[in-house]
Amino acid sequence: MHKLFDLSGRSALVTGANTGLGQAIAIALAEAGADIVAAGRSDSSETAARVHAAGRRFHAVQADLSQQAQLAGVVDQALTAFGRLDILVNNAGIIRRADAIDVTEEDWDAVVGTNLKSLFFLSQATACHMLANGGGKIINVASLLSFQGGIRVPAYAASKSGVAGLTHALANEWAARGINVNAIAPGYFATNNTAALRADTERAPQILARIPAGRWGQADDLAGAAVFLASAASDYVHGAVLPVDGGWLAR
Ligand code: NAP
Repeated sequence: MHKLFDLSGRSALVTGANTGLGQAIAIALAEAGADIVAAGRSDSSETAARVHAAGRRFHAVQADLSQQAQLAGVVDQALTAFGRLDILVNNAGIIRRADAIDVTEEDWDAVVGTNLKSLFFLSQATACHMLANGGGKIINVASLLSFQGGIRVPAYAASKSGVAGLTHALANEWAARGINVNAIAPGYFATNNTAALRADTERAPQILARIPAGRWGQADDLAGAAVFLASAASDYVHGAVLPVDGGWLAR
């Protein structure tokens, strides 16, 4: 059975792998056997050390994924590093909190550009390679706000609803051609992304009280879903948006 989840010999490109959920996903894939290419702007030494500790190769690509012109180069560098690209994890994302009436065009473009536009074009660039090489796995990081509206994060909700829509659209197009496109929808996790929320003395206890599991998620809670969607265990799973949310959506 463990062979179903074995990623030995595979190469994975993970965006935003130097912090938070992306780092945990990268380490989980490495522990399952994959070599890791991390794309982002910040220091990658911590992720590198943990991937090496798992006995896998690591390569960092410095990239600002909000810059469309950099995306094809990221895929080229990943291919140059390990000679193959089997798994893409579109994890990089940002959030900006404001009442809808105060959201600026700059906020909107930053959030939708990073969370949705770059995800599409990085998937496109990766799929060009995967389609020519027999397939692969694309995992998008969605959100509870792929299903719900949220509070004071309209651009983020729009971008993550778009991520769910794109997950379905790309799965429809590429399922018969060997690429599995799926998404993970994390619930409330303790990372940089939620620092402001966790510091909000009104919202933080309300959120905790609504989570059936009775706790915020820790980044490692995504490990199983990520390895499943990256491995042969999910070969007949296409277009799924899998909540890993402590039961939030079930409530
Ligand atoms: P995080 O620690 O802030 O991670 C965000 C990552 O995105 C960073 O590692 C950052 O990498 C990368 N990133 C952002 N803009 C980028 C850009 N222009 N170019 C390259 N990389 C960029 O927060 P997180 O919680 O782990 O978030 C990861 C993903 O999970 C996001 O898509 C987020 O929306 C989603 N999510 C989080 C939660 C939660 O509760 N935490 C819930 C649902 C969904 P660099 O700093 O290296 O550039």
